[in-house]
Amino acid sequence: MSSSSNKTASPLKQHLIRLIKAQGPLPLSVYMAEALGHPEYGYYRSRDPLGEQGDFTTAPEISQMFGELIGLWFGTVWQMMESPQPVHLVELGPGRGTLMADALRALKLLPNMKDNTQVHFVETSPVLRQKQKDAIKGEDIDITWHDHFQAVSQTVGRAPLFIIANEFFDALPIQQFVRQEHGWHERLVTINSSENQLVSTLTPGPSPAAHLIPARVKETAQPGDIAEVCPVGQAILRDIADHLKEYGGAALLIDYGHEHSSVGETFQAVRHHEYTDPFAEPGDADLTTHVDFDVLQQLARMAGAHAHPLLTQADFLIRMGILDRTAQLKAHCKTPAQANDVETAAQRLIGTDQMGQLFKVLALSGPTLPYLPGFE
Ligand code: SAH
Repeated sequence: MSSSSNKTASPLKQHLIRLIKAQGPLPLSVYMAEALGHPEYGYYRSRDPLGEQGDFTTAPEISQMFGELIGLWFGTVWQMMESPQPVHLVELGPGRGTLMADALRALKLLPNMKDNTQVHFVETSPVLRQKQKDAIKGEDIDITWHDHFQAVSQTVGRAPLFIIANEFFDALPIQQFVRQEHGWHERLVTINSSENQLVSTLTPGPSPAAHLIPARVKETAQPGDIAEVCPVGQAILRDIADHLKEYGGAALLIDYGHEHSSVGETFQAVRHHEYTDPFAEPGDADLTTHVDFDVLQQLARMAGAHAHPLLTQADFLIRMGILDRTAQLKAHCKTPAQANDVETAAQRLIGTDQMGQLFKVLALSGPTLPYLPGFE
């Protein structure tokens, strides 16, 4: 039994309780959108969640090699495209701006590209926008912040785009359905009988929104199975693919997720590097889900863009030269302890039992780029 009451509930929890009392139970997607993105109290709006002191650590925060190799990947693609200018480099959900800072440093090898680069950050958090500004203030580069990807596409007009998103799609709101005897019931968030706890429930009957579930997931599902869909992520993917198809360029989307759509619950909450109840402290825990790359690939192809075969993060980084780069950085270390840190960081990125297999890399490109480095 919980002893917390409305009086002690956080402002965001109070807001959600009021919303549920006024409108009835909320779809999981609305709950996630409010918990992560509420303009005042949302998780991402109010803090920098990254790093050992925060709630979770990401690949660019583990090693500079991650952003460097991605920068060089875009450099190679740009050369394959006969070096269009200006270069619009776009990052969705840039966190602390570390990946972009490392990528730009690596692009000093291609001064013709770097000197003509304009950076576009899609970021809603004012706290993180400031960190991103600080991260690349040493570079003489024009940066524009946008609230959503469509704004980037409108700003650059007919120019090709070079787009990177690391751990962005996993933070977008999902809807969840549970297979019952007579159909799919949607997961909702409501309040318990004492009206001070948020709990999950299901629609009493099958939900019309279940048409969003991919057919091949529906076909194999058994009673009790869970299906997840992310309409917001699908819409963004569609906008990216449309731009690549019309005006060219390439996108790298990196996230944890699965190669084939299937049933299963992946919605989770993490706080201080530990799993926690996703409904206990809205706004104070990171909420994520695994990305369904199968659906994203199909949508990109339907829009007329190339969606290349999915790689694991390990395969992508190894093909881009992480082993040589690790050896090079180790050779420059002053102490064995530093060299050991470089090696440990590389292993965290590519290790089979670490991020190497769970994280996947999806590359998209416009019609004139049928092959991409590392994906041939
Ligand atoms: N890519 C970074 C940070 C990942 S955390 C890294 O790898 O370290 C997720 C990032 O996406 C944060 O910058 C967060 O503020 C941003 N974000 C989350 N939801 C968003 C949304 N709907 N629109 C724009 N940015 C969003």
